[in-house]
Amino acid sequence: MDATIPAVRLDGVSKQFAGSYAVRGIDLDIDTGEFFSLLGPSGCGKTTSLRMIGGFSDPTEGAVLLAGTDVTDLPPDKRNVNTVFQSYALFDHLSVADNVAFGLRRKGVDKTEIKQRVGEMLELVQLGGHARRKPRTLSGGQRQRVALARALVNRPAVLLLDEPLAALDLKLRRQMQVELKQIQREVGITFVFVTHDQDEALTMSDRVAVMNEGRVEQCGTPEDVYEHPASRFVASFMGTSNLVRGTYRDGKVVLEQGPVLTVGRREGIGDGDRVSVSVRPEKIWLSDFEPGMSVHQGVIRQTVYSGPTTTYLIELAPGVTLAALEQNTDRARMEDRWSGGETVDFAWRPEHCLVLD
Ligand code: ATP
Repeated sequence: MDATIPAVRLDGVSKQFAGSYAVRGIDLDIDTGEFFSLLGPSGCGKTTSLRMIGGFSDPTEGAVLLAGTDVTDLPPDKRNVNTVFQSYALFDHLSVADNVAFGLRRKGVDKTEIKQRVGEMLELVQLGGHARRKPRTLSGGQRQRVALARALVNRPAVLLLDEPLAALDLKLRRQMQVELKQIQREVGITFVFVTHDQDEALTMSDRVAVMNEGRVEQCGTPEDVYEHPASRFVASFMGTSNLVRGTYRDGKVVLEQGPVLTVGRREGIGDGDRVSVSVRPEKIWLSDFEPGMSVHQGVIRQTVYSGPTTTYLIELAPGVTLAALEQNTDRARMEDRWSGGETVDFAWRPEHCLVLD
């Protein structure tokens, strides 16, 4: 396999349903061995994009390439991909081992080889001791692992996963995120993962495509899309962001309500431009300021304690409230924390105050 040829290429792919676009002109290369996520709100076109890669939906325009070959007109079973759905879609009358063996039997793979591959797969997903059980006797997390093993045993070049963890409770979901990533590393198969959960995408992915209204707004590493959002949409979708509007002037942004914020450098922005400004809550300091920081004063409007951290909602000016997040280390006790009505100084490094178009 030539590592320079992308495992998946979407070349100007669009999909219309009854005249309206679900996906609009997507160009995307997904590398071999990558854990790649399509992330975005409900209805942004993630599943439709995944279905076009799998062959379950035909693009209205553009081409789908797998390992350099145009597969746009090929049906799903002629593509070297497998899909894991949220619903698991397991056969309840078959044992775990028979579920996993199903695809190999259909392909006519030799019995001894099936036994060996199924055994290896069940070990990989930690279900070695459950081979004879029926899926309905397993927990949600275990059933999800059977679905994964059943897809991986076919050794597809690309595995498509459509919100596979959505039905699990939060704790199990977090655990499965780590496991799934480990399994992906071990097998080295390209994973294309659909999710609307930004934490999930950040935790698991090598790269993330953030989608909005059928388009890719930004594609990059988790750090790229979180720390350097390319648009107001990406900044607000990727976690909590303090977003305010103002006018750019000489390295600063003047807010309509009066305050002037020192911001990071941004190419292509000129004096007088109307811009959005974003600063992440965890980038706002409440003490021990360092030279060069941009320091402001505000009034605490709300204090939200959530175990490891406390979020302070600070009113900078009437109508401008910023969230600041602090680890509960220094101010670990209730009486050490600020409460509503108190005036505080807070600060950020200018480079953490991002100017967006
Ligand atoms: P979700 O997270 O809710 O699953 P999504 O990002 O996966 O959303 P898609 O399922 O790809 O979004 O849908 C994108 C748009 O296309 C939506 O507006 C949806 O209503 C529309 N759509 C999807 N499938 C069809 C279909 N078979 N017929 C008509 N419209 C469709």
